[in-house]
Amino acid sequence: MADIATDVLIIGTGPAGSATAALLSTQGVENMAINRYRWLANTPRAHITNQRTMEVLRDLGREVEAEAYMHATEQDLMGENVFCESLAGEEIGRMKSWGKSPLKRAEHYLASPSRMNDLPQTFMEPILFATACRRGTQGRMSTEYVSHEQDADGVTTTCLDRLSGRNFTVRSKYLVGADGGNSEVAEHSGLPFEGRMGVGGSMNILFRADLSKYVAHRPSVLYWVMQPGADVGGIGMGLVRMIRPWYEWLIVWGYDINEPAPVVDEEFATGVARQLVGDPKLDIEFISANVWTVNNMYATRMREGRVFIMGDAAHRHPPSNGLGSNTSIQDGFNLAWKLAAVLKGQAGDRLLDSYSDERAPVAKQIVTRANQSIAEFGPIFEALGMTGGGDHAKIQASMEARTGKGAEAEAQREAIRKAIAFKEYEFDAHGVEMNHRYDSGAVVKDGQPDPGFERDSELHYHPTTWPGARLPHAWVFDHDSGSQMSTLDLCGGGRFTVLTGIGGEAWAEAAASVGGELGIDIRVHVIGPRRAVVDHTGDWARASEIRDTGCLLVRPDHHVAWRAVDLADDPAGELRRVLRKVLAC
Ligand SMILES: Cc1cc2nc3c(=O)[nH]c(=O)nc-3n(C[C@H](O)[C@H](O)[C@H](O)COP(=O)(O)OP(=O)(O)OC[C@H]3O[C@@H](n4cnc5c(N)ncnc54)[C@H](O)[C@@H]3O)c2cc1C
Repeated sequence: MADIATDVLIIGTGPAGSATAALLSTQGVENMAINRYRWLANTPRAHITNQRTMEVLRDLGREVEAEAYMHATEQDLMGENVFCESLAGEEIGRMKSWGKSPLKRAEHYLASPSRMNDLPQTFMEPILFATACRRGTQGRMSTEYVSHEQDADGVTTTCLDRLSGRNFTVRSKYLVGADGGNSEVAEHSGLPFEGRMGVGGSMNILFRADLSKYVAHRPSVLYWVMQPGADVGGIGMGLVRMIRPWYEWLIVWGYDINEPAPVVDEEFATGVARQLVGDPKLDIEFISANVWTVNNMYATRMREGRVFIMGDAAHRHPPSNGLGSNTSIQDGFNLAWKLAAVLKGQAGDRLLDSYSDERAPVAKQIVTRANQSIAEFGPIFEALGMTGGGDHAKIQASMEARTGKGAEAEAQREAIRKAIAFKEYEFDAHGVEMNHRYDSGAVVKDGQPDPGFERDSELHYHPTTWPGARLPHAWVFDHDSGSQMSTLDLCGGGRFTVLTGIGGEAWAEAAASVGGELGIDIRVHVIGPRRAVVDHTGDWARASEIRDTGCLLVRPDHHVAWRAVDLADDPAGELRRVLRKVLAC
């Protein structure tokens, strides 16, 4: 007999584990989350927080979303992405990033009710973890996962209480490994991976210094520094990253992975900081430093029986594109409602397969993208004539050459501009962040062809209600609350939703009867004039891709489970067929 029993045991309270715990607790599922350390993240690793992640926080509650915005640096201060010799030195070029250019900002506004922002992990984790514990999660710090064994009915996990030094066991119906890039849960489960760990060496140096005079006129979260050694290891180039404007900073600097990792003590760190800032007398308050490796590895399956992995446990990659914590939280959004449905007896076990079927392709995509983004610094080095290392004299000669007259210098200027602009695949890849389309047993296609993408699918978000895609956002007016709402606000909250229009009332009746039969509470919105929800602008009518009499069945995670373009002969029969398939029951 185990010492403790719970429905879901979550290993790790990083972005993945805390988000999953918060979502499960919100949906009334008993869960426990453990962390081997005595508190949450003590370094601000993740920071770029994209719109899709903010939609997850919004789904947890407006107060959760509002708390994140309160602590975050707003989007307007994020996007003057600078490439320079040093912060005090000459600027090589700049690109608008993270939705800063007016055209890209319009795309952001059109795509989501939520805003991208910069929220260091040291703020994000406490928000998620507090939400989880406030809503019922049993959070246990200084508690280490040791091993697990699963059988037909559950999982028995052995944990170490690091305070007493004693082992104890937890019996749960499911185990979630959100235990980061060195996941023991993944290893012990024997889940398959592709790729390689440790393809590059990197160090983080955290410090405080008032750098306003170098940055406030070109506000950005990232300042890329081209210096000798900048192309060795690391994430493509030296980086001075804003943590808090403009007094707290993190430097990311590479080292050769084939050499022993450097000892980054205060003296070394201060030297690197002064060198990248370009001020040999800079007064810095050193906070901490650590070394880490660049990885290129992803799980090709994220479920083994009753055990699931998520976050960095499943996708291990450099921070390029800022996708790690975002994808981790979104993994949780995908899995939580499925676990809740199965644990509440509303769905069959096969629904849980769809977690891996839907999220493993995302894992592969983001790991590949992030590593490719490192390589894509290459053209900038080439344009500056600095491939294969470089010394100060070489950099100076290149910087000099580009200011000259004549065709060669002009061609160099053009090459630099192009190489920098190409980095939008790392710093403005809205499509990578928003275009997830799932294909699994939890999606029922409607026979319509894949709409594809009108523009580059990595750079631009393409809204569609094609089953599997995230529900498009449009502002509508909700008479019940007397306020403007996003179509995403009409859905989520752990429930399935039917969206229809005038003439589609039969779908509402069908949802009530089929929901009753299957024991699920399906929310229904009839959108149209003099109805509870009104689409005054016509934005929803244009985005819905169905007729007023049609139906969209939206999953709790905002993805379209199925759609009917028009009224069916037997709406209840259709909904029953689809829901039984989606819920595997
Ligand atoms: C410099 C840098 C910048 C980054 N920038 C971004 C960014 O801008 N945007 C972004 O989205 N991502 C970014 N990332 C990536 C991001 O930090 C990770 O992807 C994210 O932390 C992964 O979350 P996770 O919850 O999966 O794992 P982690 O955050 O690693 O959390 C793992 C958890 O498991 C616990 N744990 C581990 N082993 C055990 C055990 N045996 N027993 C109990 N507990 C255990 C740990 O204590 C921790 O609580 C960045 C990373 C770095 C290094």
